[in-house]
Amino acid sequence: MTTFTKYFLLYRIKDDNHLLINTFTGALDIVDDKAAKQIEEFSNGDLSAIAPSDPLFNQLKQRGYLFTEKDGEKKLIAKAKAYDDFLYDQSFCGEFIILPTLGCNLRCTYCFEDNDQHINLKEMSMEQLHTILDYISQVKKENHLKLKNKNQKLKIRIFGGEPLLPKNRNIVEEILRFSKANDIEVNIVSNGTLIDFYMDLLTEYRDVLNIQITLDGQKEIHDCRRIKADGSGTFDMICKNINKLIANNIRIALRVNVDADNINGLPDLYKIIQENGWDKSAHILPYASPVVDFSSQSTTTLEESELLDGLIRNGYKTDGSGIIKFVVSPCIGYLNQFFNPASKNNFCKTHYCGATSKTELCFSPDGLITSCLTYSGKGKHSIGHFDENGVYFDKNSYDKWTKRSVFNIPKCKECKYAFVCGGGCPIKALDQNGSMDDTVCSDIKNTIDLYVKKIIIKQLEKRL
Ligand code: SF4
Ligand code: SF4
Repeated sequence: MTTFTKYFLLYRIKDDNHLLINTFTGALDIVDDKAAKQIEEFSNGDLSAIAPSDPLFNQLKQRGYLFTEKDGEKKLIAKAKAYDDFLYDQSFCGEFIILPTLGCNLRCTYCFEDNDQHINLKEMSMEQLHTILDYISQVKKENHLKLKNKNQKLKIRIFGGEPLLPKNRNIVEEILRFSKANDIEVNIVSNGTLIDFYMDLLTEYRDVLNIQITLDGQKEIHDCRRIKADGSGTFDMICKNINKLIANNIRIALRVNVDADNINGLPDLYKIIQENGWDKSAHILPYASPVVDFSSQSTTTLEESELLDGLIRNGYKTDGSGIIKFVVSPCIGYLNQFFNPASKNNFCKTHYCGATSKTELCFSPDGLITSCLTYSGKGKHSIGHFDENGVYFDKNSYDKWTKRSVFNIPKCKECKYAFVCGGGCPIKALDQNGSMDDTVCSDIKNTIDLYVKKIIIKQLEKRL
């Protein structure tokens, strides 16, 4: 029986043109008014709307919208699932997130780690660290050929709390020494206030490292959000430290955590970036990421569609030609790939984030391993543990997290956005519904709608 895919979206462009999108295959096609009307009628069950003799019938079949074989689309989805399973079997952890401490010298207003953790004095021991480093060596050895064939390096992210607290120096130095000796990339996620204690080390190991520092806007905005324990601001100190890092040729990812309180202040931040000459520096890469609210009580966090709308209003260009070079967030980040013909990642999005795709592991000083950073050091939802003797995984929890995909979440199996969404955040699903399988939807529907209307259609209209 002839069927029409449920994975399609149709948008009007100028004149009598419409954009047809296949969210499963990634196909993009332009059709005229007449064809758009036929497609709508056909997909609503009126099979007479497109006769098999109509050239449109074959065109839609060839482009993966229309199926004449019994269960044609189901079979295709089954093949995609088999391929996804194959990729899962081939994959391995490529990024190890090490938290030397959860303690921090700042009290950022939106931090997902609560205050108890910031004054948590538990630190990772050298013995614990050596277990992790031994495990990384083992992963590298076991996947040596795959890494070589893909020209890929393993990565270590040093996270916290604030990883560059003076008391963590021995741990940080040991990670850098190990990484340089083993050709591993290091990303240090720091608040940028204690750089002086580490400048010698950062300079010595600059070839293998990148440091992420957050600046949330101009001084008045930043100093209301990224504050010390005594309530004072950090803007001046961070700007000074960024300039010192650049002077020492150390690469910086300059992050802006965006919500309703600072999104319209972005142009003022651009001025600061320009005044400091950071926009001309090869050592600094500004990017934006949304502030995420896990309590569901914040009034300032933005849905991804609101974030995209605000970013576009404030000069963000998806081709990276603005001051903000890219956005790190599940929906916008993937749509940038989906609509980019040069993107290497052309298989659909079946998993929502790194925590559900076997590619990241987080090690915290409490000896627990989690898949999602948000739960590191919180004593729950671990997928394994480690001590002086080794790394141990709980197979059930490990599989539950890393194999979570749109193929096994009941609600997602029926969703037309499934393969551009990936299944929503499992932490939100756990916190709000008590189960990772009863998902809380991402904002993909509104985000793709806005992305198409504000970016893709405008690009197409210039060409038509
Ligand atoms: S999480 Fe919601 S929007 Fe995303 S694929 Fe599942 S059902 Fe669709
Ligand atoms: S599980 Fe949710 S919070 Fe954790 S990494 Fe994934 S999207 Fe982020």
